[in-house]
Amino acid sequence: MVGPPPVSWEVDPHRVGARLCAPGIWRLRLPLPWEGITHVNAYAVALDDGVMLVDCGSGGHPTLSSALGGALAETGFGLEDVRALVLTHAHTDHAGLARWLVDRTGCSVWMHPAGEHVFDILRAPEQVRAARARLALREGVPEGRLEAFACTGEECEGISGLLVEPRSLRENARLPSAVGTWEVLETPGHSPSHVCLIQRERGIAIAGDSLCAAFVPWMDYGYSVDPVAELLGSLDRIEGIRGLTLALPGHGRPLADVHAAIALQRDGIHARLDELRAALDRGPAGAYELTERMFGPLDSDLEAAERTTEVLAYLAHLRATGEVVRELQTNGTRRHRRTAPVAVGRTGA
Ligand SMILES: [Zn+2]
Ligand SMILES: [Zn+2]
Repeated sequence: MVGPPPVSWEVDPHRVGARLCAPGIWRLRLPLPWEGITHVNAYAVALDDGVMLVDCGSGGHPTLSSALGGALAETGFGLEDVRALVLTHAHTDHAGLARWLVDRTGCSVWMHPAGEHVFDILRAPEQVRAARARLALREGVPEGRLEAFACTGEECEGISGLLVEPRSLRENARLPSAVGTWEVLETPGHSPSHVCLIQRERGIAIAGDSLCAAFVPWMDYGYSVDPVAELLGSLDRIEGIRGLTLALPGHGRPLADVHAAIALQRDGIHARLDELRAALDRGPAGAYELTERMFGPLDSDLEAAERTTEVLAYLAHLRATGEVVRELQTNGTRRHRRTAPVAVGRTGA
């Protein structure tokens, strides 16, 4: 993620809940310190000899690990029963407590290899900070906001430590459990490391942040050429799995209409692309100005950083499809311009 960390990472550790979603699968509702996103879901899946956790919540304060322990206790399992931790993707709200949990329980931890990019921020925060500041400058971020755009506090404070050789969670990997085998489906876009877990016999997908009851606008920018195309492709892949009757998202309640949930994300992306095209029609500009044209005044530093990052991902998509070109100006800033539409049916003069 980008932008400043929360003012305080402390949460109310008692604001937790565990609900059975299907036999042997519990949703753990864990508190988050973020203003707009107040909770994240982890899932506890019964194993023959304990429990597998899918995601684990954010690090950053002892109250967050207390909340995880409290939510798990409501299922009848304890932390000592955790045998494996599987990460849908490497964002702090899903993977932050991973190192803490491994140290506490000795469980195995599984992550897609692309997730290392988040842990790399902990290895070289100054380098990442400088790169983010350079990008912000080039895209016309005002001087007073450069610090907020460059900040790595969200990752450095929200992740409880580096993972030591996590097991590789790749396409078609199989994870056994007491409720059947889970297949790994690579679903990049929201994050390059994103995977969904599919239990075909029961028609269940643990969907992480690829699906939600509301549109999820976030995409990690800068780690792949076209995260928007990746995300659209991932939605197609989930849709292609027959017989899914329940999707368990990273935030919010379980989704019974999986196809409607997929359509919501897809429509949201296309609507944003249209809004960006309209913003570009008002003339070439840097990403920050285009973001203001799309969303109006960007009141907080966090909103400014998140929205601009989102717009950068959409710009990358329109560049990849040939609709937009990026030009470097003499002052070192960039501007993005719509290419002239190709006239159909005309031959060259
Ligand atoms: Zn996420
Ligand atoms: Zn999330």
